[in-house]
Order: sequence, then structure tokens, then C-alpha cells
Amino acid sequence: MRKSRYDAVIVGGGLAGLSTAAYLAHQGKKVALLERGKLGGRAMTIQLKGYQFNFGAHAIYARDTSYLTKIENDLGLRIQWEDFTQLKAKYDMGEDTSVIPSNIGGLLQTKLLKGMDKFRFAYHMLFTTLGFEKGDPNLSIQEWIDLRKISPAVKEMMLNLATTNFFSGDPDSIPSDVFFSYYRRLFKTNIPVSFIQGGWKVLIEEFKRVIKQNGGEIHEKTKITHINSNQDFVTEVQTKRHSYSAEDFIFAIPPEELQKLFQETPIQSDLERYTDYEPTYVMFYDVGLKKRIESDYTYIFDKDRQIFITDISYYDMEAAPPGGQLLQAVGYLNQHEINDTGAHEEMIQRMEQFYDKHFEGWRKQLAIPRASKKPVLQAIRWAMNQRGLPTHFSKLQNAHFAGDWCQGVGQLSELSFSSAYQVSQRILAKKGAIKGA
Ligand SMILES: Cc1cc2nc3c(=O)[nH]c(=O)nc-3n(C[C@H](O)[C@H](O)[C@H](O)COP(=O)(O)OP(=O)(O)OC[C@H]3O[C@@H](n4cnc5c(N)ncnc54)[C@H](O)[C@@H]3O)c2cc1C
Repeated sequence: MRKSRYDAVIVGGGLAGLSTAAYLAHQGKKVALLERGKLGGRAMTIQLKGYQFNFGAHAIYARDTSYLTKIENDLGLRIQWEDFTQLKAKYDMGEDTSVIPSNIGGLLQTKLLKGMDKFRFAYHMLFTTLGFEKGDPNLSIQEWIDLRKISPAVKEMMLNLATTNFFSGDPDSIPSDVFFSYYRRLFKTNIPVSFIQGGWKVLIEEFKRVIKQNGGEIHEKTKITHINSNQDFVTEVQTKRHSYSAEDFIFAIPPEELQKLFQETPIQSDLERYTDYEPTYVMFYDVGLKKRIESDYTYIFDKDRQIFITDISYYDMEAAPPGGQLLQAVGYLNQHEINDTGAHEEMIQRMEQFYDKHFEGWRKQLAIPRASKKPVLQAIRWAMNQRGLPTHFSKLQNAHFAGDWCQGVGQLSELSFSSAYQVSQRILAKKGAIKGA
């Protein structure tokens, strides 16, 4: 068996693994990144007929306060951003539409709240932003609201926000402390949503550039099948033919993969429960159109149908050929619908009707559709009694964990970036090894 030694070996080349490898390489560590398939993991960009389909909207939430921005600045990543126009994000209210209030500007514009209710809601926003409103891990947001004397309109607004941002039609499943910590971040931001010009592939290429420029190694099609450990430390990870040893190991692979690898290690039983946790599944239906259909909004959400449409090419100029348009409909799948093909078909129909309503004439302009029926949006869903995996267990001192299944900040890729950042800082702090520190 061939053997190599590094300062840090990173297993998994999704956004979490890539950002950790780039961060550590940039700080002078000798790194190897091992990915079983292609780099990017679930953050994929696929080009078809001149349209760029991202596996997901590559929307970054609260960019100004995000860990991705910290990483971008620290590593000098070259990314061009296009920020969401807030007043173009609307609720479908049947006959009418209204602005979704995600900060004070949106609050003043929304028709969902009137008169005193605007002040009442603003009061809740202020309380949340200042950190006085914390919620309770044992109460869902629905239960939390029910226990308080909140006016029906404010109550409905909070429940709308919960379902809009947590990819769940069920406010009973969203822990209230998670709800408030999420909104504390969102209400403070000046940039609620941004898109990366060129999609995920641009970010992946940038991470690759930093790793390579700093002497790091990237090995694709390299599946780790075995790890060796002693009582306190991981000593090596292995493919069939190669052994990689290091001072530190970062596992940026999902819980079911971790469980397989960590059998007969001191943390085997600690990992078990995370494999049982449910992911968040959604359904995507993207349509590439030959000719742009103008609209007053670039994001429209229908809470009754649990569907929203984003005009991706409005923000990402590279997503469609000149004059064309790329729209994306996302629908929430309830747990009982996940493996139900009938429910998937119904969802597609609902999405097509929603396109008909808001982008009339899209069928005539259709150049290419692309549906994705059951992708894992977030590997561990924010739900009552489901919490993220710790980024470290004291029993195995040099093993670290990162990914959107880990404890961190925000949702989706921000969980990958924040856990990656935390892990990188911990490794660098160990010997005071931060460059320039
Ligand atoms: C349809 C869709 C839409 C999305 N939209 C958004 C969005 O708009 N905004 C946003 O912020 N996020 C979005 N996300 C979420 C975002 O894509 C994920 O949070 C992020 O990509 C997760 O990255 P990760 O590195 O944590 O995990 P992953 O991408 O799952 O990476 C894990 C990697 O580990 C590799 N691996 C596994 N086992 C092994 C092994 N044994 N050896 C070597 N390698 C291994 C896998 O091949 C994979 O590449 C979306 C996701 C989906 C699916």
C-alpha cells in the first residue's frame, strides 16, 4: 500500500471540505483533499443547451454577516455577487401580491400587516434583533406563538416567515430557538439574499485555485473506505491502495458515511443518532426559456401551495443565453411525500400552474426543463429533537467534522461554511499556527 503524510487530510470535497482545505492550505498547512467523486458535492453546476442549472439556487443568505464572506476575505476569493432586490420578493395573496418583510424596508411596504400590527411586528423584530427574544428549544415556533398573546395578523406573519425560510410547511416542527436565532441574523443583514455570478462552479474553482496555489493536493475519485485509530487519535485514512496519515483529519462527509467509517472507534456510538435524523427534502423544477418574460417580482412565494419561484437569470447573468431566462420553482415535500411518485407528479403540476399564473406564456418559450425530485437540501433538518453533529468529540482528539449536518450558523451551505471555519480555526489555534498571528 502507498503511503503519504500531511499536516491535514480532508475527506469529502463538497463546500465544507473545499473551504477547510483552502483555509488550511492558505495558512501554510500541507493538505490533501480526498473526494470520492467530483468536487462540489451537492453544490453542482450543470450546463445544458446554454443554460446553467445549479443544483439549487446558489443563493447565499445574509451575505454581509456570513462565514462565506469571512472566508472570501481571508482567502482573497474572486467572486462577483448580485444582491437580491428585496422589494421584488413577494407573497402570492390570491388576487394580489405583497412584499415579504425581511427587514424594516420590507415591513413598511407589505400589505400583509396593517396599522398597529406593523408596529407590533416591528416590536418583535427589534426584540429578536437585540437578542431578548430567544425562544425555547423544547417549544416549536407554533407552540411558542400559541402560548403568547400575539395579535392574529402578527402571528400569521411569523408563521409565514417560518414556512418561507425553513423549507417546511409545518411550523410545529421548527424549534422556536432556531427560529429566533435565524431571524436575529436575518433582521440584522442589509443583504438578505445574494447570488454568485456563474453559480457554484465559480466558487469551487476559486477554492481549487487557493488549494493548488498553496501546494495542496486534490484527489478526486478517491473514496475513503477505512480509518485506523488508536484510543485517542485517528492515525490514517485509507482507500483500497493508498494510506493517508496526518496530524489532523477533517471529515466533511455526511453522517451515514461517517457511521460506516467510524465503526469500532471510540465515537461509534456518539455518531449513531445522527444517521437516524431526517434530512430536508425539496423538489425543484427549473425551466430554461428562449425569451425572457418580464414580471414585477423576481421571487414569488405561495404559502398555500408551498411553492416559490425565483427568476435565477435576473441575478445570475450567466444562467441563461442572451435574451433567455432561467426560472426555478421549489416545492416543499412533507415527510410522507418523499417516496411517493404520485405526490411528485402532483407537485410538478402545481408548479406548472404556478408558472402559468406568474410567468404567462412560459410553455411557448420553453427550451429546456429540468426537474429534481428528491434532492437533500440539508442533511439534518432543523426539527424538534434533531440537532446538528458536533464539530469535535473529545474522545478522538484530531478528528474534526464539517458539513451542513454539523452544528453551526444559519442554514444550508452557511452551516457547511461556518462549521468549516470553526474547524480550521481550531486546528490553526492548536499550535498558534495562524499566519501572521
Ligand atoms: C437542490 C439543492 C438546492 C440547494 N440550494 C441552496 C441554496 O440556494 N443556498 C444554499 O446555501 N445552499 C443550498 N443547498 C445546500 C447546499 O448545496 C449544501 O448545504 C452544501 O452543498 C453542502 O456541502 P457539504 O460539503 O456540507 O456536503 P456535500 O455537498 O454533501 O459534500 C460531501 C462530499 O463528501 C463526499 N464523500 C462522501 N463520502 C466520501 C468518502 N467515503 N470518501 C471521499 N469522499 C466522500 C461526497 O461525494 C461529497 O462530495 C442546496 C442543496 C440542494 C441539493
